[in-house]
Amino acid sequence: MQQINDLSARIGQYQEQIQAAVARVIASGWVVLGPEVKQFEQAFAAYIGASDCISVANGTDAIELGLKAIGVAAGDRVATVANASMYTTTALLAIGAEPVFMDVDLDSRCASLAEVTRAVDAGVKAVVVTHLYGLAAPEIAGIAAFCAQRGVPLFEDCAQAHGAAIGGKRTGTFGLASSFSFYPTKNLGATGDGGAVVTSDPDVARRMRALRQYGWSDKYKVDVAGARNSRLDEMQAAILSAFLPGLDDANARRLAIAERYRAGLSHPEVQVPQAGGSAYVGHLYVIRSPRRDALRAHLREAGIASDVHYPIPDHRQPVFGGRYAEVRLDNTERLAAEILTLPCYPEMRDADVDRVVEAVNGWGK
Ligand SMILES: *Cc1c(COP(=O)(O)O)cnc(C)c1O
Repeated sequence: MQQINDLSARIGQYQEQIQAAVARVIASGWVVLGPEVKQFEQAFAAYIGASDCISVANGTDAIELGLKAIGVAAGDRVATVANASMYTTTALLAIGAEPVFMDVDLDSRCASLAEVTRAVDAGVKAVVVTHLYGLAAPEIAGIAAFCAQRGVPLFEDCAQAHGAAIGGKRTGTFGLASSFSFYPTKNLGATGDGGAVVTSDPDVARRMRALRQYGWSDKYKVDVAGARNSRLDEMQAAILSAFLPGLDDANARRLAIAERYRAGLSHPEVQVPQAGGSAYVGHLYVIRSPRRDALRAHLREAGIASDVHYPIPDHRQPVFGGRYAEVRLDNTERLAAEILTLPCYPEMRDADVDRVVEAVNGWGK
């Protein structure tokens, strides 16, 4: 069976470093918000190209607390896409803010400048752009310039795009602040939960450090409202520090797999994504077919796992009842019906990729 991902392969490859990292933390007796967290935060901020990284417990907390740090509060309307599995929407609901859904571009599957403009003209307080599937949103530089000109803070969700860059500038440095997840299957994944906010704005960084720990500006002195407890532990930080130096190589391997798919896939009812180059870090390889469910069943019979990221757009989630019944997002809805994720992870061998290619190309033959 070809799996969609293989976590045990990566963990196995790093077994010694993981054990050394864990042993180091245990021996130190400092297990939460200590030197390992500080070291990882500095290394990750430097990798992204920003001045500050503030780690938290997971990527959804990073969105929630990061948005609070840039000034989003209960009752605010915030622009987001509806094709990223409710992560940002969940964070907005936790704040008590209201999502204003933008449609996405059919090719990039990300928000476009036109949609951001529409949302800003409609009066949103902030804009969230999600760099989906590992692709840096192609119009992010233009979106950042537009948001700056209109005085609307831009927040980037980079949970799927660690290391993706446009013109040498990495995702997470275009907006006022950005969020990352270190969930195990992400491009940079821990062996448990983890997340971070990255920013180069000192005020945002200061507020963020307070927000992740009870609102403390100093120990036991609370002066930032809306805070919670959301911290990365020392063991995950130490393990992430062991993984970080291998991130670029792992991303390059993901990109090579995507290129192999693009060169090999040739079924008339299958559409492959455009080549991403260095803007793409191959988090998920997502093709399209008008008969997606039949293709998925065919692959399953051929012993190949696939998945749909994501089947239900946010504005159609049952939790909302009919609240967004009038909202129509043509591209988002069409993509939800047609997208299919093929296996793509650094430990996958060329022969594994070729087997998937053969199975897709042989569909219906
Ligand atoms: C995984 C993910 C998140 C949430 O991260 P968690 O660590 O699981 O909370 C947010 N946004 C996107 C785009 C993601 O893929």
